[in-house]
This record gives sequence, structure tokens and C-alpha cells, in this order.
Amino acid sequence: MIQKELHDECGVFGILDTEGRRDDAARLTYLGLFALQHRGQDSAGIAINTNGTLFCHKDNGLVVEAFNDMTINMLRGSAAIGHVRYPTQGGLGIECAQPMLIKYRGGQLALAHNGSLTNAFEMRARLEENGAIFQTGSDSEAMLALLARNRILTERMEDAIFMMMAEIQGAYSLVLMTRNKIIGVRDPLGIRPLCLGRLGSSYILASETCAIESIGGEIIRDIDPGEVVTITAAGVSSEFLTRDPDARKKSALCLFEFVYIARPDSTIDGASVYEARYEAGRTLAREQPCDADMVIGAPDSGIVASMGYAFESGIPYGSGLLKNRYVGRTFIQPTQMQRELAVTMKFSALKKSIGGKRLIMVDDSIVRGTTTRHIISMLKEAGAKEVHMRIASPPVLYSCFYGVDTPSQDELSACNMTLDEIREMIGADSLGYISLEGLTSSVKGLSCGLCCTCFDGAYPGGMPSSMVGKIRRIEFNSGRSVADSTR
Ligand code: AMP
Repeated sequence: MIQKELHDECGVFGILDTEGRRDDAARLTYLGLFALQHRGQDSAGIAINTNGTLFCHKDNGLVVEAFNDMTINMLRGSAAIGHVRYPTQGGLGIECAQPMLIKYRGGQLALAHNGSLTNAFEMRARLEENGAIFQTGSDSEAMLALLARNRILTERMEDAIFMMMAEIQGAYSLVLMTRNKIIGVRDPLGIRPLCLGRLGSSYILASETCAIESIGGEIIRDIDPGEVVTITAAGVSSEFLTRDPDARKKSALCLFEFVYIARPDSTIDGASVYEARYEAGRTLAREQPCDADMVIGAPDSGIVASMGYAFESGIPYGSGLLKNRYVGRTFIQPTQMQRELAVTMKFSALKKSIGGKRLIMVDDSIVRGTTTRHIISMLKEAGAKEVHMRIASPPVLYSCFYGVDTPSQDELSACNMTLDEIREMIGADSLGYISLEGLTSSVKGLSCGLCCTCFDGAYPGGMPSSMVGKIRRIEFNSGRSVADSTR
């Protein structure tokens, strides 16, 4: 239960005008969040700095639902931070929406967090023993409590952040705002992305480069693992908890960002998401060839990889499925029945295009298998002769504790079935996954290491103490899947 409460896959954004003349920071943040909408559809929020006083507006739903012209126009100021939140199963309510804004002895502080801490439970317990009270189960609120406590002991917010970083473990890309600065923080492993950009006299922090470019800004660079970047009227300055020249090599950027989470027009730590997906499709075609008439992609997540597959295999690429863009991601629906209904609302098969054909359908991943099963039955009902499923990531075998809302191993199809059992369950004529090596080598130009935990169970950032000994080590060898030792 605790793990579910800690999960928090999100997008963060921050902007500060160094000349202090612009008062449209909230509008720019709104547009930035709009470009990060794929990272979270549960709630959206913006905290604004109006002449040194911080205000916050947040609401449930998409960015366009949480804000309208009136609310945006009311939020006037030259610095702002924003957040879009990914829904966790069961939902957590508006009190968990971010940014979170607190008043403490040092003034006001707003925080937006992407990621998930692995020692949040212990940290909260320690704070509670010392009298802290919390309104939510969120690790982000616990970070605010830590910062408020540390700030009493230190001169600068940056030092309070370093003290906090020495205490917390797991994944965190943060954007914070005080009365005169915004601060970007990336955890020492750099598990979740965070980058820096510029728009005229304003500096920008964002989860993905697409958010900076969407408001007409230019990309400056990625924030380094373990880096704390401060933006004030004086410009940008940077500090590290410890300056390790090998920090980038030791880092562990989430591989799933390239598989599924990030937008294809983003570049993370030197690697293009589009190129990684396209190359993964090409590699998949070499590793898992198949004789067929047409390659199609599962929209939207499998489209880029399917184009790579078609290119490499020489089999024509075509459209097989239409997606209703106004239905949210189906994975997010809390119950199985709701998820199944949402899939039907979301996709429809193009009979004219696929009728009588042997199809290769490429998708980025199989998690539970629910969506895939429905799509394949839809394609067959629409007249497809055969559907061969090709997956541009290896079998998902391990739950993520770093901010991707992966279900428990009991629900992951690859943890509980053999390759052939999964193929049968989803109703495919054949099924093939890319190898982990094939996938990682498709991520070109990367300037840091990768976290592949959902595929290899390495857990470089540790795991919550409540999960130690409860994770099954799984062998998935093309025919056989389950081996049962726990770690
Ligand atoms: P399923 O067949 O039910 O396992 O669903 C597979 C689909 O879920 C794929 O198209 C993926 O793009 C998508 N997916 C994978 N991981 C996630 C995630 N963490 N959140 C939402 N959707 C996901």
C-alpha cells in the first residue's frame, strides 16, 4: 500500500525573468505544462511569485481543465513553477496535487517533484516523531518538511537542499521557488530528466526539452545528476553536493523515458527520444523478423518504433488503428473493467487498410497485456488475417520505485507467464520482444548511464525497506519465464 502512495510520475516546469519585467510567467508555465501533458493527466498546478509573495492554483484534470483564461490572467508575476501529475491507482485527491506551497519560518516555499523516494516512509516517521504533521501521504510533502527544518539550521536554501539530499534516497527531479529564486535539483543518479533553457531574459527549467521549445525557448543543457541549479535576477549558478568527475558515468537515467514516457521530440542527456525509438524498431526487426504484408504501430506509443521496423524489414508501413485523441491513457484507469472500456473508446481498426492482411503490430511495451489483447481482437474482428506482435522493449519484470507507475509483479504478465502463454493470452499469432542489449544500444549519443530496473531488477537507487525480500527474481528466456528466488 505504501508503495502505491509514493508513486508519482510527473512533469515539472519553472521560469524566472532575470529582468523582472515580464509578468506572464504563469502563462508561459501553462504552455510549458501543456507540452508536458503526456507526463501526467491527473492534476495540474502553477505557483506564481507576485512581487515576492507566492500564490498557487491547482486543480484536478488536464492542464486545460485546471486553468482557464481568467485563472491564468489572475496569476501575474515574473517567476512561476508548475506541475502535471500522473494518476496513481485509486487517486489521491487535490491535496496531493502540486506545486505544494508552504509557509515556514524562513518565508514561503513552493515545490514541484517528479520521481519517487525509496526511504520516504522512514523519513516521514522520523519527522513525525519530532512533531511534524502531514496532510498527505506524499513524499513531496515530506521533502518540504525536511527543507523547512533544515532551513532553520542553514543560511541558504541551497544548503538546506544539500542537507536534504544527504538524507533522501530514490528519484527526484525538483523545481522549487522562494521569494527571489527558482531552483532545479536532480538526484545523484539522475533517474528522472531535468533540463535548462532560455527565452529572452528568462531562464527555464523543465522535465523535457519539448516544453522549452514549445514556448519558443532555446535549450541550454541538461541538469547534471546531483546538481542544484539556482536562477535569480543575477542569472544561473550551479552547485553540487559532491563534485564527482565520474557522476555522469555512474548515473542511471530511466530507460523507460526512451521507451514510453518522454515525447519523441525531446532530447534527454544527449540522446534523441525519436531516434532511440526508431533505432529500437530497426533492431527489433533484425532480432525478431517476421514474414508479413504490413507493419503497423500501436498508437501513439508504438508508432516511431514501427516505422523503424518497417524500414529495416522492407515490409510496407501502414495505418491499422485510429486513436481518439480525447481519451486519456488507458493504463491509468483504476479498475480492470474501466481499463477495458477505455480501450474500446480509444481505438478503432481501419478495416479497409488491414482486411485480409498479415500484420506485424509494433508497440513499445506490454505491461499487463490488457490493452494489447483488446487491440489484437479489434484488428482480427476488422479482418486482419494474422497479427504478429513485436515489442520494442524487453519483458517488464520488475516494479519501479522511482516514479513509473508499474504494477506489482503479480500483475505483470511477463512475471507470471511464459512467452507462449502471453502470446496466447493476447491472441497474437506470434510474439517477440527486443533484447535489453538491443534496446540500450538503440539509445544513441547518451552522456550518462541508464537505469534498466524494470527489465533487469538492478535497483540502483535501492528499494523501500517494506519491499526488501518481496521482489521475485525472474528469468524470462524466450520459452520459460518464472524462477522464484526473492531478493
Ligand atoms: P497492456 O497491454 O495492458 O500491458 O498495455 C500496454 C500499453 O501500456 C502499451 O501501449 C504501453 O504504451 C502502455 N504503458 C506502458 N507502461 C505504461 C505506464 N507506466 N503508464 C501508462 N501506460 C503504459
